Amino acid sequence: MNLILFGPPGAGKGTQAKILIERFNIVQISTGDMLREEVKSGSDLGKLAKEIMDKGNLVSDEIIMSMIKKRITKPDCENGFILDGFPRTYNQAVNLDTILNSLNLKIDKVIEINVDEKLLFQRILNRASENQSTRDDDNSEILKNRIIVYKKDTLPVLEYYRKLNKLYTIDGMQNIEEVSKNILKIIS
Ligand code: ADP
Repeated sequence: MNLILFGPPGAGKGTQAKILIERFNIVQISTGDMLREEVKSGSDLGKLAKEIMDKGNLVSDEIIMSMIKKRITKPDCENGFILDGFPRTYNQAVNLDTILNSLNLKIDKVIEINVDEKLLFQRILNRASENQSTRDDDNSEILKNRIIVYKKDTLPVLEYYRKLNKLYTIDGMQNIEEVSKNILKIIS
């Protein structure tokens, strides 16, 4: 089973992905986590990515696609995967399908976690203030930009999957358990 978890920053994609990977023995692929690893490692790619991420902008499709291609061809993806934070542009979605086609794979379902914008802000700012976040991009100025970028570049991805009849939307304003129950209903 190959899934995409879709939603704005702070929607709870990471939390839900963790629940699903245990239950279905599939892997989570988070481009945000992968980029943060690159930053930590101090690689050239990491240095380049950090500058972009710190502004809340998107890393180039080219970089992201080459990361993804490498990742989904690893043996641990055999059972399936959950994409979290990817695809984030229309172009990434189209390119993903080309790669998957060539591997004889496909996306089964796209689950959109829908949340109220005000709640998003609060969630992320709480994450930052409770010090659970070591993320440099969890502050209000950058967050505003991340949400602008989401609306402009990432929302068109939804239309792509809606047309393919793969899109399922759930209410992300409920508690973690309820959200995950709803997701399970969709995929089982
Ligand atoms: P969010 O909380 O916004 O979902 P992520 O952890 O997914 O954050 O991503 C953090 C940052 O990493 C993004 O703001 C962006 O700069 C970069 N990034 C992550 N995934 C992608 C992607 N698929 N395409 C371009 N940039 C990405």
